[in-house]
Amino acid sequence: METKNLGFRRNAQEEAILGEMRVKDALSQANVTTPAYIYDVGAMAASATEAARAFGTQRGFIAYAVKANSAATVIRAITSAGAGADVVSGGELALALTCQVPKERIVMSGVAKSDREIELAISSGILALQVESVEELSRVSARAQALGTQAHVSLRLNPNVRFETHSHIATGHDAAKFGIALCDVPAAFELIDRHSLTLQAVGISTHVGSMLTSPAPYLEAARIVCDVAKARQAAAGPLSFCDFGGGFGISYGEASCPPISDYIRAACALLKEYGLDVQLIAEPGRSLVGSFGVLVAQVLSEKHASGRRWLMIDAGMNDLIRPALYGARHRVEPLSGLPGLVEWKVVGPVCESSDDFGVHPFGEGAPSHVVVRDAGAYGFVMASQYNGRALPAEVFVKDGQIIAVSQAESPEAWVRRRAQA
Ligand code: PLP
Repeated sequence: METKNLGFRRNAQEEAILGEMRVKDALSQANVTTPAYIYDVGAMAASATEAARAFGTQRGFIAYAVKANSAATVIRAITSAGAGADVVSGGELALALTCQVPKERIVMSGVAKSDREIELAISSGILALQVESVEELSRVSARAQALGTQAHVSLRLNPNVRFETHSHIATGHDAAKFGIALCDVPAAFELIDRHSLTLQAVGISTHVGSMLTSPAPYLEAARIVCDVAKARQAAAGPLSFCDFGGGFGISYGEASCPPISDYIRAACALLKEYGLDVQLIAEPGRSLVGSFGVLVAQVLSEKHASGRRWLMIDAGMNDLIRPALYGARHRVEPLSGLPGLVEWKVVGPVCESSDDFGVHPFGEGAPSHVVVRDAGAYGFVMASQYNGRALPAEVFVKDGQIIAVSQAESPEAWVRRRAQA
């Protein structure tokens, strides 16, 4: 199955279709109210399968960055395509284990892991804790000693590679909080070797940031990983893996981005060039799921003021924060019917000026419902109850069938919790 035929499309009647189902039927059959996320889980699994295939004869796997979309239905579908998981908290680790992600395919990143999270990672027997500072290595060693065992660690390098993306999602440069600076790598290995009863280096990792639009910065960082891995293997024996991170961009309506397979094939070629006989790990999040979800909202009212047409919808920045957080632009289109020529400014109900989805073309009249496209990644996972609003519903579709529904929380649940505070 080709992913290019999957995901969002319109039928002959110009109705929005996802997962071979009319989005409006998914809403009514799942008995959910708006705002609601609808996902094409079949397309997500297919994109994971396509990514896995790109490894060819190279040993390794995709460690799906669970932070992008942590719904169990999504994690299970991607895992069934052979993927592991990249987790960044004890909660995500426990969820990945609950979803039966094989522990030898889980890596855990994060700059500020708590003692409890470190102990959970060590005792779960995951492939590696990706350590982000020399100081963290000492903490991991102490937790391993307390547990009477040896922790498997990978050094997450900060390669000091910059590329053009929003500053909030650039992680691999020397002003970012992430990763071990290259000048600290010798000290990190020295500490590991001094604590060989409690620490074992099994991998070298990096992640330069999100929304890459070409493999060049990814490969620049990957070369640094390979240099460090090669030197370490020569000095101290075999490593299990090299992990070049994720961050593969998707199109939000602009020019198309390279497919995941381009990055993975280039990574395989690089390992070959270096003669590194290790597993390759790739950590895509957004590129496996982002294009395969929409947020559906009802239009609550229109407003004509200041020479402008406003569309007030029932989804807000609490449901999808990317526009407010990163200045991200998502296409907002009618649920039924094609976009028109008349510009409307689309805003949500939250009491913040940044609750603004931008200007989008509709017809002369306001539609009854809209879809916010490409909302499968960093959507629900970042949702909040700000302004006393309930977390939205989620509907999971595959091959024209609803396979799971997560109902919206009731506003009463919010009232109960705040009434106790
Ligand atoms: N790996 C790590 C360590 C990350 O921090 C992130 C995202 O920030 C990812 C992978 C996934 O990035 P993306 O969803 O852009 O592929």
